[in-house]
Amino acid sequence: MASINTTCAYCGVGCGIRATVTGARQVRIEGDPDHPANRGRLCSKGTHLGETVGLEGRLLHPMIGRRRASWDKALDLVARRFRDTIAQHGPDSVAFYVSGQLLTEDYYVANKLMKGFIGSANIDTNSRLCMASAVAGHNRAFGEDVVPATYDDIDAADLIVLVGSNTAWCHPIVYQRIRARCDAGAKLVVIDPRRTETAEQADLHLAIRPGSDVALMNGALAWVRAAGAVDEEFLAASVAVPADFWATVEEGYDLWSVAKTCDVAPADLRRFYEWFAAIPRTVTLFSQGINQSTAGTDQVNAILNLHLATGRIGKPGAAPFSITGQPNAMGGREVGGLASTLAAHMDFAPDNRARVQRFWAAPAIAAKPGLKAVDLFRELGQGRIKALWIMATNPAVSMPDAGSVRDALAACPFVVVSDVIAETDTSAHAHVRLPAAAWGEKDGTVTNSDRTISRQRALFPLPGEAKPDWWIVKEVGRRMGWATAFAYDRPAEIWREHCRLSTYENDGRRLFALPGRSSGGNADYDAMQPFRWGDAPFADGRFPTPDGRARLVPVAQKAIPAPLRDWPMTLNTGRYRDHWHTMTRTGLAPKLARHREEPLVEVNPDDAARLMLSDGSLARVGTPQGESLYRVSVVASQRPGELFVPIHWTDRTATGGRTGRLPRPLTDPYSGQPGFKASPVRIAPV
Ligand code: SF4
Repeated sequence: MASINTTCAYCGVGCGIRATVTGARQVRIEGDPDHPANRGRLCSKGTHLGETVGLEGRLLHPMIGRRRASWDKALDLVARRFRDTIAQHGPDSVAFYVSGQLLTEDYYVANKLMKGFIGSANIDTNSRLCMASAVAGHNRAFGEDVVPATYDDIDAADLIVLVGSNTAWCHPIVYQRIRARCDAGAKLVVIDPRRTETAEQADLHLAIRPGSDVALMNGALAWVRAAGAVDEEFLAASVAVPADFWATVEEGYDLWSVAKTCDVAPADLRRFYEWFAAIPRTVTLFSQGINQSTAGTDQVNAILNLHLATGRIGKPGAAPFSITGQPNAMGGREVGGLASTLAAHMDFAPDNRARVQRFWAAPAIAAKPGLKAVDLFRELGQGRIKALWIMATNPAVSMPDAGSVRDALAACPFVVVSDVIAETDTSAHAHVRLPAAAWGEKDGTVTNSDRTISRQRALFPLPGEAKPDWWIVKEVGRRMGWATAFAYDRPAEIWREHCRLSTYENDGRRLFALPGRSSGGNADYDAMQPFRWGDAPFADGRFPTPDGRARLVPVAQKAIPAPLRDWPMTLNTGRYRDHWHTMTRTGLAPKLARHREEPLVEVNPDDAARLMLSDGSLARVGTPQGESLYRVSVVASQRPGELFVPIHWTDRTATGGRTGRLPRPLTDPYSGQPGFKASPVRIAPV
């Protein structure tokens, strides 16, 4: 049997897979040795993908309420309700909430319908919860959302710094690459409040106080400047330095002050700073511990400042590297699937709006950025969003303060959910459910963390009446009156249009462009091999800003709030190694469930003794937003005063572990990304 080259359904590492169909809904999964992201390796989640392709729990037919309906009837209803709502309340009264699980082609069509034809930018994505702060930080520093690193840089680095990332669990194949480089002599520094499996293996672990990352990075910058490791030549040629920048970085960020703010030993801090000053080939990888913060964008810019000031960017083995969570968070960024971008890395500047409207021959174009995820659901709760379409995501579990999100969904006059799963916490509130194609049934492209675009390919026929997301969206677009603009028959046509838009009237200012990809036929698309866009960004010292220079952005450490009387501890949230999001797929693989069979709250031994919590007992974890039960795990890896809980369990899967109910819906002021990592919390034995 011939194998089919496709891409893993899970994380942003974007591993290539060779899939061999061995029977009805049966497939053998192997790593693709030719894929540049993984070179044949797969982690436990990817390896067990074959166990998750059954039809258990699938939504296989359109549903209106609890009754099965024809596609025609369901699509006509969706189109009519959106059209009527827009006619009565205006385009900003409707919204789409989409997902980094969508393929780029799905994302493109949804973005086009909302921004160019409905005329609102109220389309946001669950990627807002994942990497929006990295996007905002890149835009502030570089002038465009460009990840200036590739996995090859890891292979060339002599110092690897991981900030806010349990890479061994969350990006396992990247971590294998890091380990291989460390085995060859590179040093590994892990900056994380928890002593994770990744931190265990580091040459240096800095278990900093949550939220003190800006102080740590500003202190590093002050140190390397004093040590003479700032690249003055690179700064003079390629970076704009605000007049007061050095004063902002140096005042209050001496070693002793930073050690106190970060609650780490000065000797450990000094060791990190000395290594950073001395080792030019440094890659700093960062993930949710940096992004999921109410100061996420400043934290990103503190890292970018350090790399720009030392000239450690655009050179082999030297770069800041945002690693994304979802399989296609990057593809969503490329098409403009965030409320804060228009399309193809363009913002809402008047000339960009005119250009995109011309290209789409669109009747309208969104005038301004739309509602970001937390604001979108808040407006939903306040009755200002009157029709919402949710695609491939489960916000009733994954949003912060998820209890309020459920209330908002319950009160919304018209909710559409297109998903592969029949019953989710979100679809319980849907007026219309539309059956979407799953991984292994649909065709399209995804972009991984290092800008490599790969194909996902269909392995099985579509089950029941399921349809690809791009087909569902274009059918609604056609029924809303825009038949010509949404006359797609194949994802290849959408891909070619996306490529053309990326180069349309692009005067070269934007780095994102897919030249030479817009021609060619369906056969070219079918045969597409993985490729990376953006050749060695910033290697020439030029950045996509009006003057060609990057920006150092002054950022200051914000005061870390004192513990509250009623909520005296700090709650951190994150992933388990073998589960993904809300477990709708990984929950189907028994071998994956064995790693962690239930949700645990991790508690430091001193706290456990003080609060009379024993290992294995049950505890109630509460915040002002809600509470849930967890089994206690007493571990020295947890800092005193801090708790850690996993994100995966839902109301439908367990009586406990409802983590989404707990975090505050507070966001970063620039990116709108919620701060999942530091909510005031209390814990008590049951
Ligand atoms: Fe899939 Fe990510 Fe594992 Fe690679 S590292 S196999 S992309 S889950």
